[in-house]
Amino acid sequence: VEIVSPDILYGLNEEQWKAVSSSEPAIAVIAGPGTGKTKTLVSRISYLVEKCGVLPSQITAVTFTNKAAKEMRLRLEKQFESKRIAGAMTIGTFHSICLQVLSRERGRNSINIIDEYNALSIIEEIIKDMKLKISPREALREISLLKNGTSGEGDNKKSDIDALYDLYRSQLKGYGVMDYDDILLEVLQEFENRNTEDILDKGLESSFSYLLVDEFQDINEIQYRLIKEWGRKCKNIFIIGDPDQSIYGFRGSDFRYFERFKNDFPDIRQVRLTKNYRSTPEIVASAKSVIAKKAEGADDRSLDAKRESGSKIRLIEARDGFSEALFITKEINRIIGGIDMIDAHAILAHHGKRNAEKHIKGFSDIAVLYRTNRQAEILEQCFIKEGIQYVVVGRDEFLSEKPVREAITFFKFLLNPEDMASLLLYLKAENIYSEDFNRKLMEDYALSEKSIASLIRVMEGVQLPLYKQGQPVNFIEMLKKYQSVISKEKPYKIIESWISDNSLSGVKSMEMLLNTAIMHSEMSSFIQNLVLGRESDIVRSGSKVYSQDAVSLMTIHGSKGLEFPIVFITGVNDGMIPLRNISHGFDTEEERRLFYVAMTRARDELILLTSSKPSPFIADISEEQLIRENAFEQKQVLEYKQVSLFD
Ligand code: ATP
Ligand code: MG
Repeated sequence: VEIVSPDILYGLNEEQWKAVSSSEPAIAVIAGPGTGKTKTLVSRISYLVEKCGVLPSQITAVTFTNKAAKEMRLRLEKQFESKRIAGAMTIGTFHSICLQVLSRERGRNSINIIDEYNALSIIEEIIKDMKLKISPREALREISLLKNGTSGEGDNKKSDIDALYDLYRSQLKGYGVMDYDDILLEVLQEFENRNTEDILDKGLESSFSYLLVDEFQDINEIQYRLIKEWGRKCKNIFIIGDPDQSIYGFRGSDFRYFERFKNDFPDIRQVRLTKNYRSTPEIVASAKSVIAKKAEGADDRSLDAKRESGSKIRLIEARDGFSEALFITKEINRIIGGIDMIDAHAILAHHGKRNAEKHIKGFSDIAVLYRTNRQAEILEQCFIKEGIQYVVVGRDEFLSEKPVREAITFFKFLLNPEDMASLLLYLKAENIYSEDFNRKLMEDYALSEKSIASLIRVMEGVQLPLYKQGQPVNFIEMLKKYQSVISKEKPYKIIESWISDNSLSGVKSMEMLLNTAIMHSEMSSFIQNLVLGRESDIVRSGSKVYSQDAVSLMTIHGSKGLEFPIVFITGVNDGMIPLRNISHGFDTEEERRLFYVAMTRARDELILLTSSKPSPFIADISEEQLIRENAFEQKQVLEYKQVSLFD
């Protein structure tokens, strides 16, 4: 390999270059936020292909979200000036990669994934039959932890959960479906049980020859075992992560997997990155002082800010959640509207046309982070009133509303007529036919060649009138109508006509589905995203107009790995950050790491908002780093409320 200066190749610093060009069989990059871990991982891929002659098809990169995978692919396409090279690589989440492996072996259509909401309704029935006192959501969480190799710490009887799990499993089997966790489990079993020749035969090994994993701190037991299996057979494994950003403990992730990794791969080379390129020194210092107070594992990791000094952290003390939202709204208006023509000309003159854009802030430069999804609502109300464009990122409550679940289930079936579980669940949910009829229908359909046409034939043999809300509906007509448009029309159009066909106009959850559909150009990728996407993959527009220039509203969990010039964190209150919530359990150390993740998303400006009792973590930031401000007088807030929200 020729020696190239790191500066010339990929614009890396010495430490990053060390990681990128390392030739050891196992490499672990452990480094803090904004140190260029993800950038280093992408550069490593380029390096392998360009300098080491590795075939793109031998590379697998694991990302945490589908969105991150997409961005990585785009960056590589640019780098290689070729779609083909990047296209030959396997890049995706654990779930999408495992789904690919299974599809390759069994054919895509024979794999049916049940979404979370239908899984919940199956569990609900089992709970009812077993007369248990547990919520379906909690039960699903326990089952998921069990599947993922961690047993829940809740106070539910273990024997109950085991019995529930057995029934649930046999139900899924009966429907011929897998749930989200099964996708990984099945692939793990294949790899653990099969002998090496078999895997070689299927060409499985070669795509895992060079394995790269981003956000390693958030893997769980099953994912670790997958990495171990794949890593055992590969030529090179490259993992990247930050134990201080481990925030998925409630799903069984644990930063101690770093230690296990070191034991399992003894020839490991460790590389540290210590320079933060993302944030101003003010932001880095404040975030560091928060994480420094962690209880466990004091370490030698250093994090030095590389950027020039900026403004201090602002701490806004407000009266309540509403006045926090109001402050954010006014502040955004000030930031966006604050640049008048004279400023714009000055910026243009000073920075030149190419760089001027960087200095003029748009809506998309701003993110508002919160601890729980529910906090978005009040922000949305204020933003709508003020005409601020925004998107809400995450698995919102609306997705679990009945009409939304039914629509998703219907379209899921339409997209894959072999997905009999969706068909049956849809018919059941709609109460269209009797149980007996459903059973007969499914039996006949199972014997047919499983297409919409054959379903229609089977149904026409019976000719039952269908009633829904007192109105006759023709299921067959619905099937025909939507089958003819599903792969042609835009998701937005399809959902729109679904709303009118089912008399659902004005239903809020359906409006939200519509605003999610607007972000997609194809029905299949839209539905796939809803069923398989991580929380942060699901994006809902704040209005019926699609705009790229929008403020991002998201939970702290959803913000992982991202960066924004301006970040607001709302609800930095005791009880919220750290969250104290009975069903969620509560782990102050993990909450501290969450706050650390939130703070380190900001590039230029960080604004914390608190009302009621401030979060104890605020006391860990030294007063010199903070500017305290008072949000609004009570009277002003009330006036605004009257004028804007209730007019
Ligand atoms: P996180 O822990 O939040 O995932 P990260 O370590 O993955 O952060 P990146 O997102 O890769 O960090 O990089 C953070 C920012 O720093 C990006 O804007 C990136 O372009 C920039 N950056 C990284 N390395 C360099 C470098 N050597 N020179 C200039 N900018 C850099
Ligand atoms: Mg990253």
